[in-house]
Amino acid sequence: MNSELIKRTAAELAAKIHTGELSSVEVTQAHLDRIAKVDDQLRAFLHVDAEGALAAAAKVDADIAAGRAPSSALAGVPLALKDVLTTRGIPTTCGSKTLEGWIPPYDATVTRKLREAGVVIVGKTNMDEFAMGSSTENSAYGPTHNPWDTTRIPGGSGGGSSASLAGFEAPLAIGTDTGGSIRQPGSVTGTVGVKPTYGGVSRYGLVAFSSSLDQAGPCARTVLDAALLHEIIAGHDPLDSTSIDAPVPPVVAAAKQGANADLTGVKVGVVKEFRGEGYQAGVLDSFEAAVEQLRELGAEVVEVSCPHFRYALPAYYLISPSECSSNLARFDAMRYGLRVGDDGTRSAEEVMSLSREAGFGAEVKRRIIIGTYALSSGYYDAYYGSAQQVRTLIIRDFEAAYQQVDVLVSPTTPTTAFKIGERVDDPMSMYLADLCTIPANLAGNAAMSVPSGLSADDGLPVGLQIMAPALADERMYRVAAAFETARDAAAGTAFLNQIPEL
Ligand code: GLN
Repeated sequence: MNSELIKRTAAELAAKIHTGELSSVEVTQAHLDRIAKVDDQLRAFLHVDAEGALAAAAKVDADIAAGRAPSSALAGVPLALKDVLTTRGIPTTCGSKTLEGWIPPYDATVTRKLREAGVVIVGKTNMDEFAMGSSTENSAYGPTHNPWDTTRIPGGSGGGSSASLAGFEAPLAIGTDTGGSIRQPGSVTGTVGVKPTYGGVSRYGLVAFSSSLDQAGPCARTVLDAALLHEIIAGHDPLDSTSIDAPVPPVVAAAKQGANADLTGVKVGVVKEFRGEGYQAGVLDSFEAAVEQLRELGAEVVEVSCPHFRYALPAYYLISPSECSSNLARFDAMRYGLRVGDDGTRSAEEVMSLSREAGFGAEVKRRIIIGTYALSSGYYDAYYGSAQQVRTLIIRDFEAAYQQVDVLVSPTTPTTAFKIGERVDDPMSMYLADLCTIPANLAGNAAMSVPSGLSADDGLPVGLQIMAPALADERMYRVAAAFETARDAAAGTAFLNQIPEL
């Protein structure tokens, strides 16, 4: 293992690759070796594409040797891609048996942009089936393990992406966040996870769970690396009708500005409702210390009340299953995906029903049934309709808050990484992992998680959530980068250097 190479940031690796000091092939090989060494413990990857990765790396090296400018700031750097984004010629399962063996005929826009930027896709990462879950235990291919403690969950649904970063299998990853699936895994693995403004990154080729909420975003070990990746994947896409036709927020400049560790003039709102009962003591202590740190950096900190945030979780668990029951109707065994019982004696309906029974796991079925019920005539107004009204109230809470402050902060999730198996039989406690992350999805705003430190009660990472208004993603990057600089200066080392060796 070449720990020199795998422990570097993406920005450092790119700089050395672009000057020819390192080759992308050696950097990529070091990460493939790391995956070979530790992934049977972590199980972050569902598919490793060593051949494709080395070929992409060789192309970057050839460009540089020929004196051509690198195609992006991250050209030549390895990345782990969540298995919910389509990859032409590479299997895409969404963590489901239904799509086992499916090879998409097209690239998601995110995938295409990464390839065009010369980012080296090393493989596809494990996830809760169709991105429904908070622990990666709903994957049909078995759970992923948290590198800080392999008996614990790496968060979900994007636990493969977060574990690959914390396990030094890749310096960059992509996740998707419908209710918290980038930020909560970031929080429990001590990594940075960003949910951009809804519509900021194209959803074309992102297999749909809940279309009004789904958003792809960057995952990394540092704020600057996340910003560099953000600018590569973001931007308007005519193939996604909800993609925003506006300039990409200047997140790299904001991350660089933030690194100066001066937040004078920045107003930070602490969400009053996201503290107190139900939160682990070590999480709250780390959060309070982070808020104090922001104050020391010059920010003006005030408490802000968002009274409707307490209804976000129930509203989300009506809206997202409703949309999922409609979106997942496409898995009908007719055009692609698992087909069961098609022996010539059964009707198409029977084959569909047998295939869906065999192909979907328990949580996906639960959501489809809840969603179908919530949308049924007679119940629509009481459930789906009311949930949409709550959504409006939450948007208004944010609007009122952002009249007073530039960004909002809270813990990312109420507890540190829980034990594998601990919550599988209790959907409610699993859903509570997203208590603090869901409001930003319902409002379509930007939000991210940056490690705030280790919890004093169990030594596991805690995440600080920073939220910003739609299309003002740069604000949270500035605050996150300033915080990161102060945090590492106080600890005397980069955060991930505290992780135990695997
Ligand atoms: N954990 C939440 C859920 O189960 C969020 C999932 C996500 O963001 N994809 O729905």
